[in-house]
Amino acid sequence: MVGRMKTMKKIIIIFVLVILLITGCSTKGKPNVIVGEKPIVYVSFYPLYFLAEEIGRDNIDLKMVIPNGVDSHDYEPSMKQLKAIEEADVFIYNGAGFENWAEKLVGTIVEEDKTLKASDYVELIEINGTFDPHIWLNPENMNRIGEKIRDIFISLDEDNKNEYEKNFNELSNRLKILDKEFKDGLKDKKKDTILVSHSAFAYMADRYDFQQVSVAGINPEQEPSPRTIANIIEMTEEENFEYIFLETLANPKTVDIIAEETNLKTLLLNPLEGLTEEEQNNGEDYISIMEKNLINLKKALVE
Ligand SMILES: [Zn+2]
Repeated sequence: MVGRMKTMKKIIIIFVLVILLITGCSTKGKPNVIVGEKPIVYVSFYPLYFLAEEIGRDNIDLKMVIPNGVDSHDYEPSMKQLKAIEEADVFIYNGAGFENWAEKLVGTIVEEDKTLKASDYVELIEINGTFDPHIWLNPENMNRIGEKIRDIFISLDEDNKNEYEKNFNELSNRLKILDKEFKDGLKDKKKDTILVSHSAFAYMADRYDFQQVSVAGINPEQEPSPRTIANIIEMTEEENFEYIFLETLANPKTVDIIAEETNLKTLLLNPLEGLTEEEQNNGEDYISIMEKNLINLKKALVE
């Protein structure tokens, strides 16, 4: 009798294993990370790298497509890079027109259910009929995207669920503190408009209640017309602008001309589309750079 029970048990175990194997192989598109191997995560550019790194830490194998130090808007990945993304367990990108190359990958090289499109999870702002992709410059959006990244890491790697949750909670707290620093810091504004290099700050302006006037368009390559330049110069006088904000990675040539023409003082406002080598060497990250942005914004709006 005992022998027969043992045999039955064996048969049941084998049966369950076979079922697991079959379903394991046939659930197409389901993330099936090999046990003992870290999920391979590709992100398009720095702000998403920051989120994935903070949440995934040592539990993921993280790679970034757009290297730091280049203008992210116009980056074109190499064929080799595109091929490499194929091996990703998840490909995380911004969307909303920021990485045109990425939109082409989805559904061809990368299966759609292996992607996370950050802009799907936040409220998009439209500027002149085009969606503004610079969603990461509102810390609240970063928190929402972070939540989705946490969820996808857990679905890829259940074993480390607690760590992903703990890491996300820590990150979320830092983002909430940053958000509060901005709210408090910009509460007593004396001015409500800033002059910036390219139109990257709509989400920040919307969150903290100020306006941006930009020299170039959503893409820094969109140089303004002579008429726009004339209007901006006129406006700097009317609005009593004291500063013009420059960027670290890309500045349209006209920004320099306007700064010179108007005698405005220049300050840095970093749209965080990538880190410079210096920023990397100094151990800067999204939060520390946003804190510096706040210091400079206060100079232009509060002090
Ligand atoms: Zn931009």
